[in-house]
Parts: sequence; C-alpha cells; structure tokens
Amino acid sequence: MRLRIWGARGSIPTPITTPEMRRRLHEVLVRSQGVNLDSSEAIDRFLDRLPASLTSVVSGNTSCFEVRAGEQLFIFDLGSGSRLLGKALMQEEFGQGQGTAHIFISHTHWDHIEGFPFFTPAYVPGNQLHFYTPFEDIEWRLRQLMGAPFFPVELDYPQATRSYHTLKPGHPHQINDVQIEMIPLHHPGTSYAYKLQGGGKTLVYANDAEYPQMDQQFTAPYEDFFRGADVLIFDAMYTYEAAVTSKVDWGHSTPKAGAELAWRAGVKRLILTHHDPEDADIALWSKIEDADQHIRFRNTRTSEERPLEVLLATEGLTLEI
Ligand SMILES: [Zn+2]
Ligand SMILES: [Zn+2]
Repeated sequence: MRLRIWGARGSIPTPITTPEMRRRLHEVLVRSQGVNLDSSEAIDRFLDRLPASLTSVVSGNTSCFEVRAGEQLFIFDLGSGSRLLGKALMQEEFGQGQGTAHIFISHTHWDHIEGFPFFTPAYVPGNQLHFYTPFEDIEWRLRQLMGAPFFPVELDYPQATRSYHTLKPGHPHQINDVQIEMIPLHHPGTSYAYKLQGGGKTLVYANDAEYPQMDQQFTAPYEDFFRGADVLIFDAMYTYEAAVTSKVDWGHSTPKAGAELAWRAGVKRLILTHHDPEDADIALWSKIEDADQHIRFRNTRTSEERPLEVLLATEGLTLEI
C-alpha cells in the first residue's frame, strides 16, 4: 500500500500568511550567515539541511488522503486537497476517461467534501467514481454543494459515472482483494472511521472524532477497530489543555489521546491530522513531541515496550506501508 496526503487541515483551508512567510525568510537568512551559497547546488544543499518547519507547508488544504493498494485507487475525503489530487490524476488514465476511484466520505462537513466541485476527473466522461459512505442520502448531500446560487454548475454537469454504495457498520465490504470496514465516531452529526485491509497491510482513517472518556469500557470498540494497524490516521486537532477546557464537545481529539489509543491497540505508525486553522504551521510540529512523550511514559511503565512511530500529517507526505 502507498499513502499520499493532499490535505490535512481541519475545518477550513488555511493558506500560509505573509507574517509567517516573512518569519521563515528571516530565520532562513539568519541561518545562512557564513554559509557558502555561491552556486545553485550549494543553495539546494543548504535548503535540504534546514528543518521541515522552515521549508515546507504542513497543510493549507483540508482533508484528502490517497491510498494505492496494488492497481486500485482509494480516496478518503474530498476536502480542498482533492483539487490537487485531481490534477495529478489527470496525468494518469483519468485524463483519458479511463480511471476508477473508490471514494470514502467520513462525513459531509464542508471541510471533507468542499473539493469535489474542483475535482477535475469528475468532469471527464468515462471515469468511474464510486462513493462509499453510510449516509444513504449522500447524492442529495453532494447536490446541495453545487448549483445556483452557490456554484456555477449542478451536480449533473460533471460527466464521470458516479455510483453510490451504502456501507453498514459490522458488514465488511470487499473491493476486489481489499476489504473495507467502518465504525461510527463521536462527532456532531457522526463521522465514520474506515479500515482498509489488503496485501497483509492495514490502514485506518479515523478523522473527526472526540473521545470524551478514555476508560477502556468507552474506548474498547475503537481500540478493537484500530488493533494492529500499520497506519492510524487520527484527528489530533487540539492540545490536551484546549480539549478539556474550551473545546469540550467540539468533536475533535488530541495527540495525547491518539498516542494512548494507538499504544493500547498496538498500532505501528500514528499520523496526526485535522490541524486547527488557529495554529500556524510552526505550532503544529510540537504535536509529535506531545504524542512521543506520552508513548515514552507508557513504555516506561510496562515490561512490554511497544514501538510506535508518530508522524505529523503534512501535504505531500508519501509513505510506503
Ligand atoms: Zn473536519
Ligand atoms: Zn466534522
């Protein structure tokens, strides 16, 4: 399996700001003092040595995750990141109207579907778009997204063939040699986590979820669902402090809760996502340390140390699973 991230912001697209850009340039220029930058290659070598927090965007776009399992394409959510995914797909068979995508929608809050009207493969006749969700009225929901007075064209204008598949929790669905399962998550209006299993690998996409209790009685269904996953993509929008004070019942979780649940479930890699638009990119990198700190705390209190790698979801991140 291969994962590529196209959008990892929560709630609303969050482009980098001019003050943030200037702060980075300032920091880079400070670090460049005394460094030999007399050729293009030397400049590239210098840039390559800088931390990602200075040279890359964590995420301006909202949720969109691409997974390839063999020849098959799976897409989790169509946030604004799906516009860029669509552009990339147009370079493949989707450009000739010969592409097939299996699209899983966690829920239909704006930030998880707003990229669809800009998803170019949908406008090419011949392409096959399969939508999977437990929401039986998904077509109606997408219809609300398009058409006057909010968008120049209606849902019937895109010419790709769309099929809608209703999934049910507890009823795994098979797509060729890949199995997909889902469970409901605690989130306003309900969000759904998806588990993809194929080729001996397991990926779980669990975006937009709050875990208001961390006792095992409450978390058991989630731990069972996450158990042994090679990758768990987890909503870690808030700091622990915000989650237990000002953001209670907002439907989102924390790096610490992700670390705890992933640790209990024996997950191998935890990817922290759904970044708060209130947080500048620079603030997001500390999420890794928040989670790592909790894992170290857990591992020192057990005889069985569990290796668990923590990654920050960043636009463009590609992982072999
Ligand atoms: Zn969201
Ligand atoms: Zn949501």
